[in-house]
Amino acid sequence: MSADNTPPSASNENVKILMIDDSRDKLLAMESILQSLGVTLVKAFSGPEGLRLLLKQEFAVILLDVNMPGMDGFETAGLIRQRRSLEHIPILFVTALSTTDADIFKGYSFGAVDYVLTPILPEILRTKVGVFVELWKQRRALEAQAESLKRLNQDLVARADQLSAANRELESFCYTIAHDLRAPLRAVEGLTAGIVEDFGQHFDETGHESAERIRDAAARMDQMIQELLAYSRLKFVQMDLQPLRLEDVVRDAMKQIEYDLREKKARVQVKRSRHRVLAHQSMLVQVVTNLICNGAKFCVAGVSPELTIREERRGEMIRLWVEDNGIGIAPEHCERIFRIFERLHDRESYGGTGIGLAIVQKAITRMGGKVGVESELGRGSRFWFELPIVKEQGKPSAEAAEAGEQRGTADLQGV
Ligand code: ADP
Repeated sequence: MSADNTPPSASNENVKILMIDDSRDKLLAMESILQSLGVTLVKAFSGPEGLRLLLKQEFAVILLDVNMPGMDGFETAGLIRQRRSLEHIPILFVTALSTTDADIFKGYSFGAVDYVLTPILPEILRTKVGVFVELWKQRRALEAQAESLKRLNQDLVARADQLSAANRELESFCYTIAHDLRAPLRAVEGLTAGIVEDFGQHFDETGHESAERIRDAAARMDQMIQELLAYSRLKFVQMDLQPLRLEDVVRDAMKQIEYDLREKKARVQVKRSRHRVLAHQSMLVQVVTNLICNGAKFCVAGVSPELTIREERRGEMIRLWVEDNGIGIAPEHCERIFRIFERLHDRESYGGTGIGLAIVQKAITRMGGKVGVESELGRGSRFWFELPIVKEQGKPSAEAAEAGEQRGTADLQGV
């Protein structure tokens, strides 16, 4: 790089070079050589004066005369290098051509990065200083970039905080609204029942039908609000995970929906297993309940629902399958049904709110697991979730347990 050819750019004005030399003539000579770089040149006539300037201003490079009376160049360089804030500034020693190798080596050990020999060759001085000026400018640009990245990052963190605060506010707002809506709804249900009781004898068939529809609509809305509350509660509930035997969870879930399953003439086969998973008890019961209810609900009219519940070990996870003989789901819909309010059927064919699977997904995700479904239209569905296994200490290996499970499948709770 030829410093001569480098046009003094505007930003070079901010670049300062410190020249420390006891000889006025040498300082003047260096000044006139370096002027074309367009940098700011600062002169010091001794080591101590140079040190004072270095403490007050920032320099891109130091040109330091080796032979000065009092504090010489080596001593000055040694003191400069002792200061942390100054240790990165490159020092170019200016010394006579006759300098011995030993002295040159001494200079390097005092922190010199290069030498300029006298009598000075203008082109060499300009080129050497020009390289360090460029390096300094690049370093400053990098520092500025790092600073603006840091600011950007801080901005992002602040925005994320604001967003999650807004989100929390919105969720608690939804929770309150949903909660408060239940009271007038109960009034609608109660008053309708009261009207039918007191004045029912005056109603014709249409009147009775209308009253029935009001009650149904209110009951449906109440169910939806309850499910919405359950869904939003999932966000706040403390995640107390504990080792749970899946078999017990399935049994608890089935107990809760026993009546419903019996009414639908559903048969549920639960394959025996000994696995335990880390999960939140009531949440997991809710998840299993939702999956079994759906399996028993989305059935071809006139066909009795047949469900199989089984476990599968997959590395460090246990997968629970809930398989049904129902109407099935087209593969392209298998993902979206886990989103809230997504339903594939009208209410007349199959009742529901579209919240059940959203609860399943959110609850399992919060417990550190995954959910999914394999299905085809008309060929039943196989819903699954998986959770981290709890390893049994001093018990037969899980593989052995699994082999036992294969041999001894049993109808645990056929309904
Ligand atoms: P809901 O059951 O209240 O409609 P879900 O969130 O539980 O809501 O389910 C969303 C949709 O996914 C259902 O409306 C239905 O279309 C589909 N679905 C869920 N489970 C099954 C299943 N076992 N078989 C077929 N379709 C299902």
